[in-house]
Amino acid sequence: MNRSIEKIIQTIKVLEGGGFPVRRPFPTDELDQVDPFLLLDHLGPIEWGPGEAIGAPDHPHRGFETVTYLLAGETEHKDSGGHQGRLMPGDVQWMTAGSGVIHSEMPAPSFYEQGGKMHGFQIWINLPRDRKMIPPRYQDTPSEKIPEVLLEDGTSKVRVIAGEFQTTRAVIETNTPILYLHIKLQAGMNIVQPVTSDHNCMAYIIEGHGLFGAEKETQSASEGQLVLFARNGDEVCLSSGKDSPVELLLLAGRPFNEEIARYGPFVMNTREEILEAFQDYQQGKMGMIS
Ligand code: MN
Repeated sequence: MNRSIEKIIQTIKVLEGGGFPVRRPFPTDELDQVDPFLLLDHLGPIEWGPGEAIGAPDHPHRGFETVTYLLAGETEHKDSGGHQGRLMPGDVQWMTAGSGVIHSEMPAPSFYEQGGKMHGFQIWINLPRDRKMIPPRYQDTPSEKIPEVLLEDGTSKVRVIAGEFQTTRAVIETNTPILYLHIKLQAGMNIVQPVTSDHNCMAYIIEGHGLFGAEKETQSASEGQLVLFARNGDEVCLSSGKDSPVELLLLAGRPFNEEIARYGPFVMNTREEILEAFQDYQQGKMGMIS
């Protein structure tokens, strides 16, 4: 059965990290989380002048995963586990913070000097209670390794970041079942994607507009809106407009339905665990960036 739409969420504009602008559909006053997804930030697109680009200097995380997907620009990542990487357009960095890391997410030096367009996403995915303190892990996946499926019109396409689309499986390993697709549909196209019936599912519109939801009660959504599907079916229907292409992220995951204690960069189950995270961070137990 085709899922209907529970709600269409507007993004709010906030400044993140050292002060770069993002559009955020959640967490906001209107929508706290989409279990197990804790945050969705749409960075830019923003045109930086030479020497202007802002990133996120050293900061800690514990208890969840940060997933960064870049569409334009160039960033550099360093963390206290000794991992270092550069993200180019189309690359994905899946960082499992687990028991804790300190990292920096900055514009690459050459990009900073020259300026240019920065565009991307960061998504926070929660870890279940029994995995919050697993050792940190870092999966850096270059664009050419992300599977891409060309649809029957020859130009519409789906990039499979996590989970699977039709018969194509992602290369990134996830801790819990996650579907993460980047979909570009030319005008007049239609996709039906199976979604496990107890998983939460949403579509975030990057550009253009499309039609979503069950037959006869489809709703349209456009750039900067988040379509939250009801949990009343095992597939979702996505269409571009008759005259308009649409580009979107489709996300789904199995909710944990666990208690959440959240403070800034730490997401745990109890307040005591948050206090412990602060202590461990202050005592240097999450390491240092060398
Ligand atoms: Mn971070």
